[in-house]
Formats: sequence, C-alpha cells, structure tokens
Amino acid sequence: MIKEQNFWLTTVEMPAADGSRALPETADVAVIGAGFTGLSAARVLAKVGAKVTVLEGETIGWGASSRNGGMVLPGLKLGVNQLISMYGRERTQRMYAASVASIDCVERIVREENIACDFARCGHLEVACKQAHFDDYARQVEVIRREFNHELKIVPRSELRSEIGSDIYYGGMVDEGSVGLNPARYVAGLYGIRDCTAGFRAIRASILRQIDFSALHGRHGNLGRPQRHLARGRRRCAARGVR
Ligand SMILES: Cc1cc2nc3c(=O)[nH]c(=O)nc-3n(C[C@H](O)[C@H](O)[C@H](O)COP(=O)(O)OP(=O)(O)OC[C@H]3O[C@@H](n4cnc5c(N)ncnc54)[C@H](O)[C@@H]3O)c2cc1C
Repeated sequence: MIKEQNFWLTTVEMPAADGSRALPETADVAVIGAGFTGLSAARVLAKVGAKVTVLEGETIGWGASSRNGGMVLPGLKLGVNQLISMYGRERTQRMYAASVASIDCVERIVREENIACDFARCGHLEVACKQAHFDDYARQVEVIRREFNHELKIVPRSELRSEIGSDIYYGGMVDEGSVGLNPARYVAGLYGIRDCTAGFRAIRASILRQIDFSALHGRHGNLGRPQRHLARGRRRCAARGVR
C-alpha cells in the first residue's frame, strides 16, 4: 500500500505554536497565520520594536508554507510580454525587479537567522511541451535581457539530456539565479527566531472567524486608521535599515 505523506514534513519536527500561553492583553500588531507571510512580517515588525503576536489556528507552517515545491524563482505567473501589455514597461520592470530582489531577501533572512533549510542557488530549468512554447522562450529571453537586465539561457533539445537525462521535451530555458530550499525547514526556522533575535511570539489560537475592530486600540490611538500605522512602520523600518 502506498503511504502518502508530505516529504518536507518528514525532514523536520514542526514546532507547535504555544497553546499554553494566554492571549496578551495588548499587542501593537496581531498577525493571523504562522506561514511565510505572517512570520516574516512578525520578524520585521519585532525588529523595529513592535510588540507582535502571531495567532495560528493549526500548527506552524500548516498552510501552503510547508507543502510547496520549495522553488524560489524570479518572474511572475504571467509571461513578460503579457505583463508589459497589461501594466506597461515601467511597472512591469519594477515588478520583475521585486521578484528578483525577493530571492536575495530570502537568502539574507536564511543567513542572518542561520536557518538550516538547504538553501541552494541551484538554478531552475523550464521545459517546453510544444515547439511553439520553445519558440516563445527565445522571445522571452530577449525581452528579459533588454527590459530587466536579467540573463536566462536557452537549452536546445539536443542539449537537454545533459540537464535532465532526457530529450523528451522540445527544449528548455535556464535561470541560474533561482533557488531551491526545504520550505518546511524554512518556515520552522522563521518561527525559531521568535524569542531570540526578533522577539515576537506565536500563539496557538482557534481559527479566527471575526475581528471586532471597534475594540482595537494601539499605543498610537485607535487601530481604525491602519494607513497611519503602515506609514509609521515603513519610516521606522527604513530608518533602521530593515527590509
Ligand atoms: C502545492 C503548492 C506548491 C507551491 N509551490 C511553490 C513554490 O515552489 N515556490 C513558491 O514560491 N511558492 C509556491 N507555492 C505558494 C506558496 O506556498 C505560498 O505562496 C506561501 O506558502 C503563502 O504563505 P502564507 O504565509 O501567505 O500562507 P500559508 O502558508 O497558507 O499560511 C497561512 C496560515 O494561516 C493560518 N490561518 C489562516 N486563516 C486563519 C484564521 N482565520 N485563524 C487562524 N489561523 C489562520 C493557516 O492555518 C496557515 O498556517 C505553492 C503552493 C502550493 C499550494
């Protein structure tokens, strides 16, 4: 009988959010969800001095953060030509640059927090299932070089065997800057930094179904004015060099 299980979760003892802690009376920021997004946000906020509580309804990384492919890639879901036609050159250039910078951001966090998650700049290969897809790679590589100053390499079908041991596909496109990591170890590592460097805490809560905004008050007044808090947070992050 085949036993199906999440491979990543067999490689790490996933910590549970602390269920014994009572909810604090106050917090500057309450983050819902202890996945990549919530724990990364908590880390940055805590580093600039905010009192942060992360509320998780299941276990740490229970959502997609411990169940994904572990591929840290540049670019966006849509092809670059489509993005340019939808959003224009300048905005697409900024979005693409952000995607490339996000890889460096993950690398910086892994190094700064010493997270053992098998982070490797191994590159990634995209393969074409149709000749038309392969023909489009050449156009994409050209646009990405010209518009985003980012180098990709075309792998013709005749050389594909050296990459994947097969030439079943019509060819491929390699990005050497892409990263592979173990996502379950990465998210467990993000949680592991809580009380030492960053100082946020994660609490096992039941799934939150409703937030009573009228009851929320922060150090700076009623939390009904989130923009003010965001703006202040950005200034504090910039002042302390936190990205
Ligand atoms: C099959 C699959 C493969 C993927 N592969 C890749 C990949 O290779 N590379 C890549 O970059 N991305 C990939 N992704 C996407 C990536 O995993 C997600 O973008 C990322 O994990 C999102 O992180 P998150 O913290 O926003 O959400 P999640 O990791 O889903 O975390 C949300 C957390 O919030 C908790 N929560 C939600 N609602 C409540 C509530 N009301 N009360 C209390 N707790 C709550 C959940 O329990 C969960 O733990 C993949 C996704 C999937 C599903």
